[in-house]
Amino acid sequence: MKKLIAGNWKMNGTLDDARVLIADILNGLHAQPELLKTCDFLVCPPFLHISAIRHAVYNSKDVVFGAQDCAAAENGAHTGEISAAMLRDSGCSHVILGHSERRQHQGETDALIRKKAERAHAAGLIAIICVGETADERAAGNEKKVVEAQIRGSLPAGASAANTVIAYEPVWAIGTGKTAMPADAEVMHGFIRELLSGQVENPENTRILYGGSMKPDSAKALLAAKNVDGGLIGGASLTAREFLAIAQAA
Ligand code: PEP
Repeated sequence: MKKLIAGNWKMNGTLDDARVLIADILNGLHAQPELLKTCDFLVCPPFLHISAIRHAVYNSKDVVFGAQDCAAAENGAHTGEISAAMLRDSGCSHVILGHSERRQHQGETDALIRKKAERAHAAGLIAIICVGETADERAAGNEKKVVEAQIRGSLPAGASAANTVIAYEPVWAIGTGKTAMPADAEVMHGFIRELLSGQVENPENTRILYGGSMKPDSAKALLAAKNVDGGLIGGASLTAREFLAIAQAA
């Protein structure tokens, strides 16, 4: 399967920055069309920049775009929320759910993430469900237990390779410059693949991304590891050069 190279832009940049970044990515892909043979590309800008990205990628099949969260409710009196259907209506194909920053800072639980994933699927979005252990959980040898509970708790019924991507993002690696050793990533991705049988339709073809300080230098070994089907990339997705260099490494 092609690797999915996904950028999580988080809460960064101005509208102009977003326009420049997507133009640089599209130009970079135009100059290196061979990257499209091995990789699919996704960018997840802040909500307010989605329409500019939609405009920029209009008529291009090279990059799809998504959001970083959606509401658990379908619609109605939920001030400040954005529904899955609104994202789909705005051209999004994907939505990141249960990122560890939201689990930590917004108190998101597996049950809430599952509801959001149900909404995402009902709206026709592909849910990228994030899981991963903290440093303390790994030090205590509990990383598999934690990830298993997150997968069992946050995957909705009806999840399939077509509507769900898993992102394994060890919390201690996100934004810290530390990455998992490729061998450790391989062990966890293999474990997740096993967990997916019985939980999703077509588990062998369900993409499992690695996330956590992936950079061009570390990408080659991580993306070569068995069951690593791409990367969810934060910091290094904010420049086209680094983002595309990760795809080159794949
Ligand atoms: C992320 O937050 O999804 C992420 C992987 O961030 P970074 O690459 O900056 O660690």
